[in-house]
Amino acid sequence: MGKDYYETLGVGRSASQDDIKKAYRKLAIKYHPDKNPGDKEAEESFKEVSSAYEVLSDDQKRRKYDQFGHDAYTRSGRGGGENVDPFDIFSQFFGGSGFDSFFGGGSSRQQTGPQPGADLRYNLQVDFEDAVFGADREIEIPRAETCSRCTGSGCEEGTSRKSCPACHGTGQVTMAQGFFSIRQRCPTCRGTGEVIEKPCRQCSGEGRVQKRKRIQIRIPAGVDTGSRLRVAGEGEAGRRGGPRGDLYVVIHVRDHDVFERDGEDLYCEVPLAFHLAALGGKIQVPTVGGPAELKIPSGTQSGSVFRLRGKGIPSLRGYGRGDQHVRVVIEVPTNLNGGQKAKLKEFGESCDERVHPKLRAFLKKAKRFFS
Ligand SMILES: [Zn+2]
Ligand SMILES: [Zn+2]
Repeated sequence: MGKDYYETLGVGRSASQDDIKKAYRKLAIKYHPDKNPGDKEAEESFKEVSSAYEVLSDDQKRRKYDQFGHDAYTRSGRGGGENVDPFDIFSQFFGGSGFDSFFGGGSSRQQTGPQPGADLRYNLQVDFEDAVFGADREIEIPRAETCSRCTGSGCEEGTSRKSCPACHGTGQVTMAQGFFSIRQRCPTCRGTGEVIEKPCRQCSGEGRVQKRKRIQIRIPAGVDTGSRLRVAGEGEAGRRGGPRGDLYVVIHVRDHDVFERDGEDLYCEVPLAFHLAALGGKIQVPTVGGPAELKIPSGTQSGSVFRLRGKGIPSLRGYGRGDQHVRVVIEVPTNLNGGQKAKLKEFGESCDERVHPKLRAFLKKAKRFFS
């Protein structure tokens, strides 16, 4: 049994979105785990507050919540506390930039240990066929590499880091502001507590330099727009001995002239000659694996869809393939010569209503309009 979400945020049932946002912001800061390390109760409160905000900040969810009440709403699993990642909401709320900026200089985190490198994202355009069959590609990415001159230390040879004189190695300085004194991250050493005596000439003390790097990518058969390939350990170099980040290659598949794709299935439209539709026969249709034969039964109507099993896209799971759906559109003959016209006229005159059952049915229904 949880507490009512309005009570949790301390707002009335008719509170505006603005009020809800303000209330959440206040409570989220109060209970945030960064401010209450190891405090289980605060962590629980933080989660409750986040769940409440997740629901009440969303007009649709809020309406449902108001309609069904707290217990029914949370029991149904929609917006239940268990499914919510409060940290995720929190970062969304503050623009995903982490908490440092929001808590002003109050962050006491020092960054002196090894830090992993950032993950990188690369958008890769691939041709339709490459997405179907897979391909090898080489891409070039700009990324941070460990400086070869100082091997990442940022110091010129023979020198080292020393304790920051501005903050005496604590990483923080105290600033007076009116009656208050505020502790801030030391601007001289950026909170690390150390400064470089003599910065490396190649990287200016950064320990890393920007380089362009060529990387071989294997595109598996069956990728689609939005597929994300993870290339482990090809992200940016870490700092102070931290591991490399990963590289994520996000696939964008170019459109195809003939095929449209939906997941593992392919769709295409094929014109069909009028006489073939009437008599039946065989036609060639394109598939990604080359031309295939499609049997057209006699009396096929325009817009009929035929399925070619297993002629779609290979599954990314490594087995099975989708289907290809062929929609035939009957082409009424044009540019007829005299002989053809005469034959068609003769043919038309030979037709009685049995040949056109749809027309017959229609005329029956619409009889009173023609009398
Ligand atoms: Zn260097
Ligand atoms: Zn300092």
